[in-house]
Amino acid sequence: MKKIVQLTALCAVLMWVMQGCSEQDPGLVKDEASLKLAIENAQPGDEIVLKNGVWKDIEIVFAANGTQSDTIVLRAQTPGEVFIEGQSNLGISGSYLHVTGLVFRNGYTPTSDVIAFRTNKETLANHVRVSHCVIDNFSNPERYESDIWVTMFGKNNRFDHNNLIGKRNRGVTMAVRLNTEASQENNHRIDYNYFGPRQNLASNGGETLRIGTSHYSLTNSNSTVSFNYFDECDGELEIISNKSGGNKYLSNVFNKSKGTLTMRHGKNTLVENNYFIGARKANTGGIRVINEYQTVKNNYLIGLTGHRFRGALVVMNGVPNSPINRYNQVVDATIEGNVLIDCDHVQLCAGSDEERSAIPVGTKFENNIMMSKTNANLFTVYDDISGIAFSNNVTGTENNPPSEEGFVKVDNRIEPNENGVLLPSVATMELAGLGQNWKLPVQKKKTGAAYYTKKGLGPAFGSGKTTKVAPGTNTLVEAALQSAPGDVLVLENGAEYLLTKTVALHHPLTIMADKGTQPRLLAEKSTFFKIENEGSLELINLIIDGAQSPDQPGNAVVSTSKYSMNRNYKLKVIDCKVQDLKINHSFNFLKIYPSTMADTIEIRGSDFSDVTGSILSMATETDDLGMYNAEYVLIKQSKFNSIGGAVADIYRGGRDESTFGPNVYINECNFIEVGNDKRNKIKASMRFLGVQRLDISNSQWESSAGVKLQLTNGEPISNLNDLSFENTPDVVSNGSYNRSNIKIEGN
Ligand code: CA
Repeated sequence: MKKIVQLTALCAVLMWVMQGCSEQDPGLVKDEASLKLAIENAQPGDEIVLKNGVWKDIEIVFAANGTQSDTIVLRAQTPGEVFIEGQSNLGISGSYLHVTGLVFRNGYTPTSDVIAFRTNKETLANHVRVSHCVIDNFSNPERYESDIWVTMFGKNNRFDHNNLIGKRNRGVTMAVRLNTEASQENNHRIDYNYFGPRQNLASNGGETLRIGTSHYSLTNSNSTVSFNYFDECDGELEIISNKSGGNKYLSNVFNKSKGTLTMRHGKNTLVENNYFIGARKANTGGIRVINEYQTVKNNYLIGLTGHRFRGALVVMNGVPNSPINRYNQVVDATIEGNVLIDCDHVQLCAGSDEERSAIPVGTKFENNIMMSKTNANLFTVYDDISGIAFSNNVTGTENNPPSEEGFVKVDNRIEPNENGVLLPSVATMELAGLGQNWKLPVQKKKTGAAYYTKKGLGPAFGSGKTTKVAPGTNTLVEAALQSAPGDVLVLENGAEYLLTKTVALHHPLTIMADKGTQPRLLAEKSTFFKIENEGSLELINLIIDGAQSPDQPGNAVVSTSKYSMNRNYKLKVIDCKVQDLKINHSFNFLKIYPSTMADTIEIRGSDFSDVTGSILSMATETDDLGMYNAEYVLIKQSKFNSIGGAVADIYRGGRDESTFGPNVYINECNFIEVGNDKRNKIKASMRFLGVQRLDISNSQWESSAGVKLQLTNGEPISNLNDLSFENTPDVVSNGSYNRSNIKIEGN
């Protein structure tokens, strides 16, 4: 009796499950073959439901035709629980289709797109919507291999409520193409998306959104980009690269994003009610105006630090009769009702040079409020601004308006309105004819797919747990293997740690000791530490000794992966002593490989002595294509004694202007007998080629090779102050730089 009851119950459950599934998800498909069949047979009004779980190595071709009233839907069984992984992508063509709820992760596209609004060159998508999908670090491991995550072709498509997070390899995150007539005047809508953090690519090709290309820039796209949230989109100079006509950018938020919304090509663009929040982060910018008939109105910009092309508001000079891929003159622009608070740079006639000599004309600049306490010299005028008619603008009493006429000065006071937006006083707003109804146009949580957490780019040093490591052979290797991201490994006072294997870093890790106790690390392999992709390393209060290293040339304390690293890394060396790297020649402190990129390299409070090779040779991208190896190099309060190679060789070749760095800061350092080894090819203790920002101060050289500056692109800023060179040649440079209090002795 009991058995029968159980069986009956089981049957009931089974029936319920089967019915339930079929009622709930009548179009449920479980594998690639049934998906293909379902797409082939899809009729208007059908739903094709991908079963929850991982779909690996699948190239989905969703070619079908719904109708305006009966779309065909391709969706996840549960939004956010269908994972597309491996070598996968999605192509869509036909009309009245909707794709929703898919997550792309753990892989990358084998073709040029992850989601393409076409299935081949001729077969495009129209009236197609993609919503509530996620592409999270679906990045090609080859850093400089190019692809695009979302490419829109066809017309009247919508991309909304999606998350695009963490693209690492080259290629814009999302593009609208106009390459055939069937994709022009397309009226696409791109709205309520979350464009999540994108790391600095250190090359052109790191744009988050591009609409058009220079080739089709005389054509209208008529796309509307609204209510999107751009969060730390730091890929390159252009967050958005507008390259076609008739586009509207309305009510978007740009949060702590490096770069600008650039009207690179195309005319009749409307940029209205966007909020740019810099939070004083370096290189955060606003709006850059180029070309004819552009309108920039009622935008709100605060705390943006970027200068030159990355300024809060930049009006460029053009090239007379510009070729299609250069800079069209600004003609008849309207710039009105914008509010800029504590931004550092408004740039007028930016880029003025022999080629870019066509000044802005017919341009209205009125009712703007631009006040800055962070930089009194807010405005920079690079050329003749007579083609810009200024009227009724407001600036702070401390600021320097670009013209006598058209500006009034007021007390720079800021207070929040009822929506929490910091604004000048009501009276000041009224002066410019502006009201109080300013409000963040869209909140982060209202963008993207609600089911997906919006997290940052990864853990920081010291964010994990702390573990003590006993002295001995390979105890540190083991501890690193067992560690988790952000962990701290603490070594014992004065003890010795021998490495017979290389310590591999697959995530950020701190290795440290108490101050002044300095345990000693020795290695029998050619490399002490290897930073693999995703890895970062911080060393604090350690002695690193080369005495046990193998007798061969080319040893290193730290090395990057030999292969492409699509994740930027950090290396910090704080209060360490690095000594006796003199077994054989070319024993380098850091050995890097091409297609690797450091966010930050910091050396502070450290002593380096008796090194046959170099300390930081960051010069593997020598194709002069605009790539480089480190964004920030900081060397402070450190001593370098008897170093055969260079302490710093920073190389950024090429002339394109799409990147921010490298930035190098050196102060309070001593260099004694640095760079004199015959193998030091650059014949310098330091070389800076293409470095965009260089500050060297309060430092002394003795019996060393000199410092070489090679200024190659952009408008590099180089400040050399309070330096002495004893038995060391003076600085050599091909261009002008700022120098003060430089002593040359005994040469
Ligand atoms: Ca670019």
